[in-house]
Amino acid sequence: MKILVINCGSSSLKYQLLDMEGEKLLAKGLCERIGIDGHLSHKPQNGKPVFDEDVAMPTHTEAIAAVLDKLTSAEYGVVASMDEIGAVGHRVVHGGEKFAESVRINDDVMDAIAECIPLAPLHNPANITGIEACKAVMGDVPQVAVFDTAFHQSMPGKAFMYAIPYEYYSDLKVRRYGFHGTSHRYVSKRAAEMLGKPIEELKLISCHMGNGSSICAINGGKSVDTSMGFTPIAGLPMGTRCGDIDVSILEYLAANTGKDVKELTNILNKKSGVLGVSGVSSDFRDLDNAAADGNDRAALALDMFHYAVAKTVGSYVAAMNGVDGIIFTAGIGENSASTRAAICEYLTYLGIEICPECNAKRGEDIVISTADSKVKVMVIPTNEELVIARDTKALVEG
Ligand code: AMP
Repeated sequence: MKILVINCGSSSLKYQLLDMEGEKLLAKGLCERIGIDGHLSHKPQNGKPVFDEDVAMPTHTEAIAAVLDKLTSAEYGVVASMDEIGAVGHRVVHGGEKFAESVRINDDVMDAIAECIPLAPLHNPANITGIEACKAVMGDVPQVAVFDTAFHQSMPGKAFMYAIPYEYYSDLKVRRYGFHGTSHRYVSKRAAEMLGKPIEELKLISCHMGNGSSICAINGGKSVDTSMGFTPIAGLPMGTRCGDIDVSILEYLAANTGKDVKELTNILNKKSGVLGVSGVSSDFRDLDNAAADGNDRAALALDMFHYAVAKTVGSYVAAMNGVDGIIFTAGIGENSASTRAAICEYLTYLGIEICPECNAKRGEDIVISTADSKVKVMVIPTNEELVIARDTKALVEG
């Protein structure tokens, strides 16, 4: 079965077409500036040329139509016709408490995704638009929703509740949801394979460190705690997000800057994190270079990040009363040997020893701890699209 995986943003749409026989990537691409003018970059994996040009995309429907046109075209295509695409899997950001697993999309599911819009006002409407656009162009091809939040629905109340009046949870659904669930699920399963043990017997900590970063404690294959919260602003300091801060800072800043809560929240989401502290960049490569050139604020931002990751990992070791394996993934986790080394420096009390030669490698699933290390440390490139495609296949076939 061939499966189209869609990750739809408000003005963008990322896609991959996978052949599930051998789980082979056939093509991938990105539509940008949807609703503004429109640009499509399409990369077939069969040796045919890349298409990278402006294409009019007044709405997501034209974007999907353009993607299907390229996927099936003689010059850039990878399939003979749309009929070869057996199903579509969508990344949906928020499933609230309704979805603990992926689900085949029908009218009730669409209503439930819409009910979660107040919890993810920027993301869920775009995800809905993507599903509707596929329906408009592809008719009755089965569609599946895979939620970022679903994996964390196994967290117990002590981990997901905030200590605020209970009605805010029962009436307004204020609680920790957590995000990056698809990534944490993928890398933890892969880690168990690499360690050669059933996931049910393992205590794992997954560090997804990219533009957005979150850590997840996974006990017996289930998420038991995670660092992002009601929204993805919580937890670690990130590229531009502040992570955990004292909530009273908001009132203090409002009183002293004349900015309202909305403006301040925007600053905490978009102008904070390592960008805000360093004043240099949200990209860790730029921070590494600036710190090497003697920029103290860039060095401080990096130190703050390493420290926050190490503290969170330590708290999850406590939460699970032990840990067998720690996983690094996503842009920073997969590529930055110096970040991994700096974090693991804090963790020698766990008996962790890193093998520098292994830590220097890139682009593969690899154990970077020594044979003697009491806790195994792994780098596992994440693959959320593959999880979405696998879930889609499983639900459609069975
Ligand atoms: P992601 O959100 O997973 O795509 O991660 C993107 C981020 O990964 C970028 O903003 C960079 O901060 C980081 N990154 C990518 N490559 C490297 C690298 N070689 N060294 C350090 N950070 C990197």
